[in-house]
Amino acid sequence: MNSPATSLRSTTSTDPLKWIDDDLAELQRMQLCRRLPHPLASQGAVVDYDGRQLINFASNDYLSLAADLRLIEAAKATCDQEGFGRGASPLICGRAPAHDSLERRLAEFEGTEAALLFPTGFAANAGTIPALADRGDAIFGDAKNHASIIDGCRLSRAEKHVYPHTDTRVLEELLRAAGGYRRRLIVTDTLFSMDGDLAPLPRLAELAAQYDAMLMVDEAHATGVFGEQGRGVVEHFSQHHPDLHQQVHIRVGTLSKALGAAGGFVCGTSALIEWLANRARTYVFSTAQPAAISAAAIAALDIVSAEPERRAELLTFANELRQQLGRQGWDTCASASQIIPLRVGSPDRALQLADELLEQGLWVPAIRPPSVPAGESLLRLSLTAAHSGAMIERLIEALSKLRPQTAAW
Ligand SMILES: *Cc1c(COP(=O)(O)O)cnc(C)c1O
Repeated sequence: MNSPATSLRSTTSTDPLKWIDDDLAELQRMQLCRRLPHPLASQGAVVDYDGRQLINFASNDYLSLAADLRLIEAAKATCDQEGFGRGASPLICGRAPAHDSLERRLAEFEGTEAALLFPTGFAANAGTIPALADRGDAIFGDAKNHASIIDGCRLSRAEKHVYPHTDTRVLEELLRAAGGYRRRLIVTDTLFSMDGDLAPLPRLAELAAQYDAMLMVDEAHATGVFGEQGRGVVEHFSQHHPDLHQQVHIRVGTLSKALGAAGGFVCGTSALIEWLANRARTYVFSTAQPAAISAAAIAALDIVSAEPERRAELLTFANELRQQLGRQGWDTCASASQIIPLRVGSPDRALQLADELLEQGLWVPAIRPPSVPAGESLLRLSLTAAHSGAMIERLIEALSKLRPQTAAW
């Protein structure tokens, strides 16, 4: 006789979630299991990590604005005026005056007709790509594009063509062989989040023009850091390629890294923005972000224009650090930015080095698959405007004692 209790027991005895335990154990075994870090009260070059003071080389807060009082004040004032939660998506009734001001400001900043604010940078990519390419279309993407771009490509029903990292020769072959598609889209990070190198934008723009393709770039790590006005890598290359600005059709950025706030955006023509507001599902079906965040982002853009020395010094320090580490024998890949990878290969080695640095009060995260391809595990150093010369010296000193064994000296 089956009582309800025993039938309940019999269904739970074959736990349908048991596979998770098995797969987690496998991740552990491969040294690929991530653990949630202790929560941090605040961002900064020095953080209180579970009672320890650590110098933080893990954050994307490149201009050190995440804890800037001007952003905090702007957010507080906007909470007072516009409230907190937005109640609905922007198209229904969620759009606030601060969103409107920020979108205008972003269009002005990027020198485009219009801009559209998304809940996150991830949502901007995941929503924009499927709105631009569908069945019968082709997307061409760099092998090291960010996960949000890759997921955007997966969500579209277009055919995907992946070219080896920054290899425009292979890209050209792929484009040449892809005549039968209705539309073509080339999509790339401008500053790659793990390698710290730049996409070959001038050549990508030439290829896009030659093969009648749309060109979409993601400036997530470059906004606020690269270019005369801090607009990103498109601006950086525009100095010698004045047409580049027009040749990049779709620009994605995030407010969450150098700008110290949160949210993603897309800039381009008015028609593009109107289309995305109609068709990007992560825009249409997601609640508008609190207006206070947009107000903080506007304050950050003010600082980006008023304090160009933040980005200039950051890149100067990064160049010096990269050169010193290169001399120590570390493989810094093709880094040309404030993101400096130290490629060590195996996940165990990366974890071991990260632990040894942690012992010395230096927080440099080990990056392992799936964030990087197998065999390319690395330590990812990310420099910010708040790192002092003395902090960088401490890092160089610590790394000199952990030098790669295979280097030649
Ligand atoms: C971080 C990142 C994103 C996602 O931005 P969020 O605002 O953090 O969601 C998108 N693209 C790239 C290249 C990124 O590095």
